[in-house]
Amino acid sequence: MFDDLLKRLGVEPVNPGACHERWIDHPGTEEQESINPATGRPLARVKLAGRADYDEVVDHAVAAFANWRTTPAPRRGEVVRRIGQALREHKPDLGLLITLETGKIRSEGEGEVQEMIDMCDFAVGLSRQLYGLTIASERPRHRMIEQWHPLGPIGVITAFNFPAAVWAWNAMVAAVCGDTVVWKPSPLAPLTALAVQRIVGRTAEAEGFPGVFGLCIGSTEEVGERMLTDARLPLISATGSCRMGYHVAEVVGRRLGRTILELGGNNSVIVAPSADLDMAIRGVVFAAVGTAGQRCTTARRLIVHESLHEQVIERLAKAYRSLSIGDPWQGGVLVGPLIHEQAVEAMQSALRQAEAQGGTVVCGGKRLDRPGCFIEPALVRVLRGMPIVGEETFAPILYVITYREFEEAVAIQNEVEQGLTSAIFTRDLVEAERFLSAAGSDCGIANVNIGTSGAEIGGAFGGEKATGGGREAGSDSWKAYMRRQTCTINYGDQIPLAQGVRFDV
Ligand code: NAD
Repeated sequence: MFDDLLKRLGVEPVNPGACHERWIDHPGTEEQESINPATGRPLARVKLAGRADYDEVVDHAVAAFANWRTTPAPRRGEVVRRIGQALREHKPDLGLLITLETGKIRSEGEGEVQEMIDMCDFAVGLSRQLYGLTIASERPRHRMIEQWHPLGPIGVITAFNFPAAVWAWNAMVAAVCGDTVVWKPSPLAPLTALAVQRIVGRTAEAEGFPGVFGLCIGSTEEVGERMLTDARLPLISATGSCRMGYHVAEVVGRRLGRTILELGGNNSVIVAPSADLDMAIRGVVFAAVGTAGQRCTTARRLIVHESLHEQVIERLAKAYRSLSIGDPWQGGVLVGPLIHEQAVEAMQSALRQAEAQGGTVVCGGKRLDRPGCFIEPALVRVLRGMPIVGEETFAPILYVITYREFEEAVAIQNEVEQGLTSAIFTRDLVEAERFLSAAGSDCGIANVNIGTSGAEIGGAFGGEKATGGGREAGSDSWKAYMRRQTCTINYGDQIPLAQGVRFDV
């Protein structure tokens, strides 16, 4: 049914899984199927990269870096501009492939490609703004500057739920910074990575820079673990679960490599007494059930003032019961499938635990009687302190907790291990400011009168605590992809020492 689409994107029934300036195709290596979670049927297969393929990709990234790092940054930006153009041309096709491979609805699949395009635009501008500093020197006829140089080939590890955008957050910024990129995508979304690599690789080659973007689809052991210990990659940017992040931090840390960690979230929305409830309900429903609850920024906890509790539950339950769940490529569908059977089981197990710990399922949680990994999003009343509420179950479960005092709401918001996104619905200015203050939300992202998900390009994206502390995409996050150099230049004829130190020889 979607064969033409795959063909247009260069995806064959069996595909090579590694690419630098060209695709590496060694027959006989292990293969992996990409499964459409809405049907349970395979879309295509990929030949997984082995150790030798991995080394070949990284060797090319190292070689390409030598030329790329001395290419003027605005010229690098021009390559990224062309990539943005190519992505615009492929937006509907690539968006639909993301839908088929991850199960996110059509507008979210295309939205993900738009996010890549926005990222390209941002990076093009950035390519003329990699500013350093001039620093006043205490010594006469001396000048100090701080400048930024490319870092090297960067390893990018991505999660299944944003199989293309997260690569763009990293790769487009890294590219204008003068770094080359080696990408290990999620084993659950290899076809999206293949299609992106075809588009981007072709564009970079046409611009005269083959090998800047490399791809290596392989197992955790053969590729993932090797990236972590590979000193040729000075920076590993890893997006995924907290469990993965703890491991990455430890292994890369052992070689004193750099990491950018973008890990799990356990995000909450506070609904205060003065909230505009129409806005709050709409914001919460998108944040909690959009992408079938499979965003790192998904709202997982709703902290509602006790005076509104029953009303909010009732209105949410009504909205939940009206959600259309089904094939994500069909118009009007708002909730697609979970990514795989284990995710369905994890959701059902979490609901069982919630009930055992004293929670009550208000609505949803059932598996749909049809092929594919479809579930009804669930709304669950819980008590503060239930252990399951502290976990990120990557599925649409919204735990509802009540509060009495504002400080209590903030304390509940902050008492989990993760610190990615947070939101408050309030029309009370003082309350909003307190939420955003140093004593308010402890998350990397804090919103007022919008939900927790759906960040736009421009701001730095990332979170604190077990979310890993990494920042990507916007603001000055580019600095993580470069090395900082402090330079002191003496244009006098003396050698004065700082701090008044005398050393006369
Ligand atoms: P995951 O942790 O299972 O896998 C993420 C990636 O890490 C995959 O490419 C996987 O192959 C790789 N990986 C796993 N173990 C590895 C190892 N030992 N060495 C090297 N690579 C390894 O996560 P997932 O299920 O694909 O994605 C969902 C998770 O990602 C959720 O926790 C979600 O919150 C998080 N996420 C975070 C962000 C963010 O920006 N903070 C964005 C998207 C997803």
